[in-house]
Amino acid sequence: MSEEARLREQICLLARSMFDRGLTAGSTGNISARTPDGGLLVSPTGTSFGRLDPARLARFDPSGRQIDGDRPTKEMPLHSAFYDTRARAGAVVHLHSCHAVALSVLPDAVAEDFLPPITPYAFMQLGRVRLLPYFRPGDPAIGDAVRGLAGKRSAVMLANHGPVVAGRDVEAACNAIEELEATARLALLLRGQTPNMLTPAQVDELVKIHDIAWGDE
Ligand code: ZN
Repeated sequence: MSEEARLREQICLLARSMFDRGLTAGSTGNISARTPDGGLLVSPTGTSFGRLDPARLARFDPSGRQIDGDRPTKEMPLHSAFYDTRARAGAVVHLHSCHAVALSVLPDAVAEDFLPPITPYAFMQLGRVRLLPYFRPGDPAIGDAVRGLAGKRSAVMLANHGPVVAGRDVEAACNAIEELEATARLALLLRGQTPNMLTPAQVDELVKIHDIAWGDE
């Protein structure tokens, strides 16, 4: 099996796994990955994560021209914004995941640090997650908002919508977005209580040891 064929299988397998565990529902969610030749594979518009077909993924050449497959997701500008601003991005995943969306609409949601410092793993996989405001679906301003972060964040949360995460490859991006959703769930479970969060010193230590992107924009 060629490297691209394996990548196509992996995209569909991980999307199906997330769908089966309720991380995104219906025909929501989209995923893309860099191909070995510098092009892109993108999940088609209107498809369910539970039923992606490896042979029908939208295929773009390195110049950005579609050369094969079905029409890509309407949220393609979100994906492009990450690839254009983060040279290391090998994959981008977007979900409409329940707990992250719930946390994003609370009046005290924190734009600079969307996720509270509950576990080290969220920081290690996501860095700081920036909460972006609500945008109408398909609004090109979503891509502009991500570009405005100049590649300093690998994960953003779109208010009233869902998270978007870039990773070095498909597996890393999927693991990181699952960590985002799990942490949002923990944050909701702990709401109204006074949990022992990681201290600023503990967070600093993680940032230094794991060389976590902590960009201030
Ligand atoms: Zn969406």
